[in-house]
Amino acid sequence: MKIDLQTLMIVQIFSGLVQAAVLFVQFRVNRSYRGQGWMVAGNGLLALGYLALVLPRIFGFATAGIVGGNLLFVFGMLFIYFGLARFPGSLANFLGAVFLLTALVFAIHVVGSFAHVFIDAGISAAGIPREIFLLALIVLGPVLTYSYIIKINQRLHADAAEARGRLELIFKTSPDAVIVTRLSDGCLVSANEAFAAMTGYTRDEVIGRTLMELRIWKSDQDRRRFREQMEGFGRCENLEFIFGKKDGGSFVGLVSGRTFEYAGTQHILSVTHDISSRKEVETALRESETKFREMADLLPQIVFETDAQGRLTYVNRQAYPICGYAETDNLIGVSTIEFYAPEDRPRAIENIKKRVESLPMGNNEYRIVRKDGSTFPALVYSSPILREGKAGGLRGIIVDISDQKRAEEEISRLARQLELERNYAQASAAIDGLTRLSNRRRFDEVLRSDFFRLKRTNAFLSLIMLDVDFFKKYNDEYGHLAGDECLRMVGETLAKIVGRAHDTVARYGGEEFAVVMPETEGPGARIIADRIRAAVEELAIPHAASSVAPRVTVSLGVTTVATTDMASPEMVIELADEALYAAKKTGRNRVVQSDAALTRDMRAPRTNLVKLIWSVNDESGDAMIDREHRSLFQHSNEIVEALLRGETKSLCMPRIESLLGEIFDHFRDEEALLRRVQYPDLPNHAERHAALLGRAGIIAARYLKDEVAIGEVFGFLVYEVIVQHLLSEDKKYFPYITSP
Ligand code: GH3
Ligand code: MG
Ligand code: MG
Repeated sequence: MKIDLQTLMIVQIFSGLVQAAVLFVQFRVNRSYRGQGWMVAGNGLLALGYLALVLPRIFGFATAGIVGGNLLFVFGMLFIYFGLARFPGSLANFLGAVFLLTALVFAIHVVGSFAHVFIDAGISAAGIPREIFLLALIVLGPVLTYSYIIKINQRLHADAAEARGRLELIFKTSPDAVIVTRLSDGCLVSANEAFAAMTGYTRDEVIGRTLMELRIWKSDQDRRRFREQMEGFGRCENLEFIFGKKDGGSFVGLVSGRTFEYAGTQHILSVTHDISSRKEVETALRESETKFREMADLLPQIVFETDAQGRLTYVNRQAYPICGYAETDNLIGVSTIEFYAPEDRPRAIENIKKRVESLPMGNNEYRIVRKDGSTFPALVYSSPILREGKAGGLRGIIVDISDQKRAEEEISRLARQLELERNYAQASAAIDGLTRLSNRRRFDEVLRSDFFRLKRTNAFLSLIMLDVDFFKKYNDEYGHLAGDECLRMVGETLAKIVGRAHDTVARYGGEEFAVVMPETEGPGARIIADRIRAAVEELAIPHAASSVAPRVTVSLGVTTVATTDMASPEMVIELADEALYAAKKTGRNRVVQSDAALTRDMRAPRTNLVKLIWSVNDESGDAMIDREHRSLFQHSNEIVEALLRGETKSLCMPRIESLLGEIFDHFRDEEALLRRVQYPDLPNHAERHAALLGRAGIIAARYLKDEVAIGEVFGFLVYEVIVQHLLSEDKKYFPYITSP
């Protein structure tokens, strides 16, 4: 058979185009493998190359056709080589090498065509008849193309299997339950191990059974909701359901799903994530939060939390009533600083800063402002809220300490009152209720302390004793109440006149008063006493019953002593009292001052020497007795004067002996008289005389032996014999004597 070259070429053209078309289709079906484009283009160029050889022959410019055709062959072969090179494998490498070689042959042909202007001899240059060559190409080309396509498809299958394997691995090893169910009845088509683990079934137990049968749906409502979602939208994302387990337990799952068609029926692919443990953590967290809030709400104090800017992020329920807010008011977001009284704010800010930096804080007591602007005292305790080591705010407690403060104030008020009352009690214990002057007790204390204080400094102390004249009569005349008022006025006058701070005016008792004047000498004391006397008289309180004046008057006795010379303060009182007595005796409404010089040497007790003054009151009415009494007075006074002149014992002693003799004689005469007048108490009186004489003998003897001081001799003679006996005991028998 003769094969026409031109026909073969045309066949080759078609073969090349068909291959290009097939490869193009393959390329369109699967673009993922690169190199197919090169194959399509290469085959296309080969087909065009043949066309370039054939068409010039027909139309008569063969040389250009041969050159162009061969050039197209060169590029076609190169493109096929590129395509194969992108698709690795030993066969591909081999084929690639063949095409590259063939391209080289055609390239030589093209170059040769220019050199010899040899038209279409190129094909036969290898010595192979051109027809055989073309025939081989026509057969080999499609074989090559189809093997190439097979190769690609093999590769496709391998890749698909690999992808499926990967998917299966994911499906199997996923920690989430992955199942495929039929949409219509929920029958399980496929399920992974995670699904088995979550539900407690084995995979074999579940495949082919419905979710209902397996009791996977705990609630029918959930099941319907899921189905409606899938039917309506074909998908769902993160729906939360409670699912049942084989053992009756349950778990919370988060479900995402898609519907798809498989074997002509709608199926659902769903992935379920078990969030039970997350739910448990959430529940525990919620419970702990609830616990905290409920406990905080039960507290009778304010509990709060703030953010880093000091704005409230939480307050307990109590905070509202405590701060005067309604439950409906919103405190969240309010700056805590607004709750501090303006004057406390700088300190509060300073303390909050210190608290955040965990530095020691200052005083944490503040005044907290209520809604209505009123304030209450409170203690604020707080601690920083630490987030990743940084203070993200504060939390704390505010304790209302109003009650505590009130109690403290009440206690200090009571303490103050108690102090006042104690002072008052102390004062009233020392004050005379009627005159508001110091009372007798206070007087004794003052005199005693002044006395011993002055004793150390050898200073003088003056004492005035005064007594209202004929006060008994005043009471009788004007009544006791008027008497009280009179005493009050006298006391007031005294207080007015005695102005020095160290002086003490006291009510000594009844209608007697006393003035203690430390560091005051005789003349000064006298002036005060005179002023008092005059002032009382000037009060001009009517006293009709007084035989001294038609108004109230007082008698005063003043004494001034050098305390170093005195044994006790009582001696001072006696001296003043005697001076007062003398004032009364000498007419009242006057001042009698005991001689200061006189008192200086009075060292022994009971030596209350004062010049004895005879008065009308002292007269018995019996001439002899009165004469003897007077004589005794006089001799006593003489001895006092002698002693004060500093006469020696030898000079004094005869006088004393003489006085003793005189006393003895007087006692004898007196007893004779009393016998005559039949004085009933004569035996006692005589016994008293005997006792006095006995004591007189003893004292005189001791004085001679220097066993007693001169003062004691005086004390005995003047005080015991004359003042006590002659002036008081003797007066008892006066009524029994009738004047001649
Ligand atoms: P003399 O001039 O001798 O002092 O006479 P007198 O009446 O003042 O003396 P006497 O001591 O005999 O009387 C004192 C009277 O003072 C007796 C008493 O009734 C009265 N008296 C004493 N204390 C109070 C008192 O507190 N209020 C009143 N109204 N009278 C008092
Ligand atoms: Mg009196
Ligand atoms: Mg009186």
